[in-house]
Amino acid sequence: MIKSKFIFISGGVCSSLGKGVTVAGLGCLLESRGYTVSLQKMDPYINIDPGTMSPYQHGEVFVTEDGAETDLDLGYYERFTSSMFSKKNSVTTGQIYHAVIERERRGDYLGRTVQVVPHITNEIRSRIYELCKNDEPDFIIVEIGGTVGDIESLPFLEAIRQMRYEHGSSQVLFIHLTLVPTITVAGEAKTKPTQHSVKELLTFGIQPDILICRVAKHLSKEMKSKISLFCNVKEENVISAVDVASSIYEIPKMYKEEKLDEVVLKSLQMELKKINFTSWDNIIKIIASSKKVISIGVVGKYISLPDAYRSLFESLSHGGIANQVKVEIIKINPEEIDKSNYKELLKNLHGILVPGGFGERGIEGKILAIHYARTKNIPFFGICLGMQCAVIEFARYILGWKDAHSTEFNPKTPFPVISLIEEQMEIKQLGGTMRLGAYPCVIKKNSVAFNEYKIDKTKERHRHRFEFTLRFKEDFEKAGMEFSGMSPDERLVEIIELPAHPWFIGVQYHPEFKSKPISPHPLFVGFIRASSKLVK
Ligand code: GLN
Repeated sequence: MIKSKFIFISGGVCSSLGKGVTVAGLGCLLESRGYTVSLQKMDPYINIDPGTMSPYQHGEVFVTEDGAETDLDLGYYERFTSSMFSKKNSVTTGQIYHAVIERERRGDYLGRTVQVVPHITNEIRSRIYELCKNDEPDFIIVEIGGTVGDIESLPFLEAIRQMRYEHGSSQVLFIHLTLVPTITVAGEAKTKPTQHSVKELLTFGIQPDILICRVAKHLSKEMKSKISLFCNVKEENVISAVDVASSIYEIPKMYKEEKLDEVVLKSLQMELKKINFTSWDNIIKIIASSKKVISIGVVGKYISLPDAYRSLFESLSHGGIANQVKVEIIKINPEEIDKSNYKELLKNLHGILVPGGFGERGIEGKILAIHYARTKNIPFFGICLGMQCAVIEFARYILGWKDAHSTEFNPKTPFPVISLIEEQMEIKQLGGTMRLGAYPCVIKKNSVAFNEYKIDKTKERHRHRFEFTLRFKEDFEKAGMEFSGMSPDERLVEIIELPAHPWFIGVQYHPEFKSKPISPHPLFVGFIRASSKLVK
């Protein structure tokens, strides 16, 4: 007998209503009441994972500890809760069909016709049950991606309908997130789209228990009772979700004030344990009271699309919270930086960060930005490709190796200071084949990195194919670069730094995937601390 309770969150009317953050916010509240949670995203697209999608299509690819390339919502799930999630927490239609078709080819279906119901729906359900295999969490919250009515979401809705039928309403709960738009000229909030969306959901046999309505101003009592009557949902279960004022981290508090957690617990017949919300309240207080503003230049190719750097931007804000300052992110497109303008473009920054990336576009601009940070003693943080560019800059300007490059961009360079990891050479397939997930890193004592981490061994998440070329290490060391973090076998460079500079660190991994507002990543804390010293 499964003890976990299942909460399914679907979305209606339109996309971008913030389903991911709602799931994360509810997870946060239930944890704050002393319950254990596991959060899962079901994505209806056919790709196996977003690893091969362009950031323009999908935003950032979030990497889990066990090396899954997942939807950026998993990032919200981890940042809002104390948990770390895995491959199991991110499911796509592609994975479901892949598993079923593999089974069919093996002959496991013994001659039967393979169909959406029951074979695909059973596979979906087994992925949900997978989460209660080892330690059964009190709650499993599952986000159904897409908008109700999309053709692709149908098998997911059918699977969760079956689960409600089997386990009953005290174990399975349906939450539907919709939009209550305000017509500007009339100044009136309209409930009709919500009514239609619930009707649509009903055609699949799903009656929502709770409605969360995205709305400009709190729903009035009259509106709640109207929605309640037309949608067959108790009035107290109609929740307003208003925009929060200054930070995404106010969302759990907003839902707490709307009593979302209380309604959920009551519906699932669970005890209303006392809430401990002090750490979140403190974060909100710090965000509201921090006055000093630090300008951090982020030099990245996809800068026009904030979701492409979601975890990174949030990690910078965590560094701000830890130092009680406001971080203002100045987005800089590296393709617009050249030798004629870089000094002017970068002159007012207190810190420069070059994030991860792929492809040659914008590389020379990134190298110039790093050159500026290094020579002007501005704190610099390079992440993955950003660290690789810092190595190239050093080779060109300090070692005088004019044509030094990464073989990713110039396979014929006489100084291939960044080159393909040996194990990557034979790989032909694109999807899921990078060096992915958490690997250990040994940190050198007395380094800047050690000073930030305060430990000599850590584990960080990776997503790359290229690395520092080890045979050049001595040349770099002699010229003043320190290799302060290495893989335990000393074959892979994980951290570089310049001891002569106030704060110059490059990392081959992605620290932004492990930073949370409650436990900010030490390197982001250090970077913002160093940058804030430049503010008078
Ligand atoms: N393109 C580089 C590599 O594959 C960097 C990857 C990244 O920044 N995530 O190694």
